[in-house]
Amino acid sequence: MGVATLNLPWAVGRLGHHVRRALEGRRRWAWLGLALVVLCLAPALVSTYQLALLLALLSYVALASAWALFSGPTRYLSFATAAFYGVGAYTVFLATARLAWPLPVVAGAALAALLALGVGGLSLRLRGPYFAVLTFGLSELIRHVVLSYELRVTGTVGRILTVPFSLSRLYYGVLIIAALTVACAWLLRRSRWGIALIAIGGDEERSEVLGVRPTWIKIAVFAVSAAFIGATGAAMAPRLTYLEPQIAFNPLISFQTVIMALLGGTGRASGPVVGALFVGVISEVFLLQFRYVYMIILGVVLILTIVVLPHGITGWDTEEETGDVVRALRWAIVRRIPRRYAMPRNYQLFVDGAWQDAPGGRTFPDHNPPTGQVFAHIAAADADVARRAVVAAERAQTEWGELAPAERAGVVLKAAQIWDRRNDELEEVLTRETGAVAKKAKFEVGYCSELLRQAASLPYQVGGEVAPSNITGKVNYFMRKPVGVVSVISPWNFPYILTLRAVAPALALGNAVVLKPSEETPIVGGLLAGEIFEEAGLPPGVLNVIPCPRGAVEAVGDVMVGHPAVAVVSFTGSTATGQKLAEKAGRHLKRIVLELGGKSPLIVLADADLDLATSAAAFGAFFHQGQICMAVTRILVEAPIADRLASSLVEKVKTLEVGDPRDINTDIGPITSPTQLIKIKAHVEDAVAKGARVLIGGQSRGSYFEPTVLTGVTPAMRCYHEETFGPVVTLISVKDADEAIRLANDTTYGLSAGIITGDPDRGMALAGRIQAGMVHVNDSSVHDEPHAPFGGIKGSGLGRHGGKAAIEAFTEQRWVSLQTERRHYAFDH
Ligand code: NAD
Repeated sequence: MGVATLNLPWAVGRLGHHVRRALEGRRRWAWLGLALVVLCLAPALVSTYQLALLLALLSYVALASAWALFSGPTRYLSFATAAFYGVGAYTVFLATARLAWPLPVVAGAALAALLALGVGGLSLRLRGPYFAVLTFGLSELIRHVVLSYELRVTGTVGRILTVPFSLSRLYYGVLIIAALTVACAWLLRRSRWGIALIAIGGDEERSEVLGVRPTWIKIAVFAVSAAFIGATGAAMAPRLTYLEPQIAFNPLISFQTVIMALLGGTGRASGPVVGALFVGVISEVFLLQFRYVYMIILGVVLILTIVVLPHGITGWDTEEETGDVVRALRWAIVRRIPRRYAMPRNYQLFVDGAWQDAPGGRTFPDHNPPTGQVFAHIAAADADVARRAVVAAERAQTEWGELAPAERAGVVLKAAQIWDRRNDELEEVLTRETGAVAKKAKFEVGYCSELLRQAASLPYQVGGEVAPSNITGKVNYFMRKPVGVVSVISPWNFPYILTLRAVAPALALGNAVVLKPSEETPIVGGLLAGEIFEEAGLPPGVLNVIPCPRGAVEAVGDVMVGHPAVAVVSFTGSTATGQKLAEKAGRHLKRIVLELGGKSPLIVLADADLDLATSAAAFGAFFHQGQICMAVTRILVEAPIADRLASSLVEKVKTLEVGDPRDINTDIGPITSPTQLIKIKAHVEDAVAKGARVLIGGQSRGSYFEPTVLTGVTPAMRCYHEETFGPVVTLISVKDADEAIRLANDTTYGLSAGIITGDPDRGMALAGRIQAGMVHVNDSSVHDEPHAPFGGIKGSGLGRHGGKAAIEAFTEQRWVSLQTERRHYAFDH
């Protein structure tokens, strides 16, 4: 019999979630307005005790919002909160005799801001515990200075009691401060500065995400939030210090504030509000009665919260997500290990089963694209290394290719298990190395888990034929054998998938691989795959990973294509590079599988479900900032619904969250490389100069580019023909399906397409008329499955990856026959 149990954290989380929804939903202004009216009328409506409780809650809201303003996801454990609060409180003691209320509050805010500027200037380069120690030290110093001054002058308590105490006046003062703080937090988080601040919080290396100087943002926001905390301290001084003067500097204030902000999450302005309401109520009830126990509990909660809940408990939406806590805990601990242990910053080459430096110790920098800062140093392969890798692969392949299917499948399955075990870390590194948003990282890492499992099934799918013969006594066998050595060259945009979709099947089918990941993503595009297959037990030499800088790709590429031991080249990248490599491969008579660029259309017919069309278009055009070969770049919509689709797409774009890639709520992250950003800008500027209209977006902000919808695009514009590879989509109204098909095919590319229609049969009929390797009816053009034949026609490539197509690509057919009776030859007389 089941026993009903209450999942308390989840229940509390749900409650908070509803409050957040109210604060963030469409009717938030109505809710906020109502709350403000009720709060303004409160002194006339409620008892003194209830008013005091409201006052306390408001002060918590102000504190937590202000804390979240500067702290945000940086998770700086700042004891400075207490210092700022105390500065405000003591200003009141020192100033009330001379200044009329509420001027001491303003003075308290100003002094707290000044202190913050000093602390900010000193602590810019400090992180985590050092920052806490510094600010704690400062708060203690100030406390002692002020106390000794006070003792000499007159005595604190005497001063306190001289402050004219009026509950209503205090209440309204704090209400104003709380409302201003929340408004400020909300505005800041939505602003360019806010986004930059969140990025700083996520990672110091991202601090230049928006091309603004992070140092100054940090100091400025630190000071603004300190001003609010100081003002709250000043306003609350009479109430708190009446109970106990020392509380103004008690680190308890800091503890509480930090917990409040973290419980609600700090990514949005509503988080601290919700957290403050929880802790506020609990504090008011328990604090006075169980003071010390309360502090211990608070300390424990603080540590657990920081470790487990970067998004706060109210960030949990479903019961399943609570189950993620354990995983989150594990990864949170790993993440807190100093980076030099957790993530080596120097990566070696992986050749012949050994991790090794490049000749002469040469390395090249791996830049974190959004910030441009160096993320890691990578050993730089050259042509000699490539030759050694090919030779090692050739040597190792013979034995590997002869292993039983079960053994090869076993290694790939083991790799899948390791992949899953390292899931969180793989997501994290992808975000750090490429700036991919958390949603994309989650998708890509999850997809690869399926991909590896699918690849593990391939050794069993390699069939053959037993065929009749015209010769008496002969049996024909048509069988498939591994090709030998496969060279894999992969791009940066989906580095895990685009590397593994070639590497995993090639290995599973008995080949050895030499892999050159993109110079933009050497770690996620290759070195991690090397680590994982090594741990899975792949014999030495069967997989070799040789990243190299852009300057060496030509020489390394020449070996990877031209070396006699290489049998097949698998290339994914731009059409221009693909053409060059195809020429080389042709010279050497090598088989080459090419997955190249695209200019994919989404056809929307007049009978389409508008909601589906809008979602498919927005996802296809803007997922991963449009840096997808199959991205929807042209929406060809039948005239009767063109205007409606345009406006619903614009509305949809407005809901997309642009921000810190690590925030799970972020939809649009930075553009991965500066060169790419320049190209996107150039395409949009060219279109606008030639008469296109920007329906929404069109601007870059630092390394971000706004999701952009253009109309009025003509063939004279670059974005009509060329691959933009960014979050830019053109909306073209067509008179009928025939015109849509004509325009869809009016491109040198032919990778993917989507058709949205209420009539599936008509959709299927039209699909056959589109010149593309893949067409999805009632879906976006962005779609992939590990077992499906993926690839394009025309300028989008040659050959296919995925499923059985991988068998075509990475094995070759051999004809073996067995003569069972003595055959008579022409010379047998
Ligand atoms: P890219 O062509 O610049 O580089 C791709 C890879 O080729 C990188 O590893 C690069 O180092 C390597 N390379 C470049 N020149 C080389 C040379 N001369 N010899 C050997 N290797 C060389 O492409 P990119 O910028 O990394 O990727 C973006 C492009 O890839 C876009 O055009 C996109 O459409 C395409 N893409 C296609 C698919 C697909 O499946 N069809 C998937 C993803 C990306």
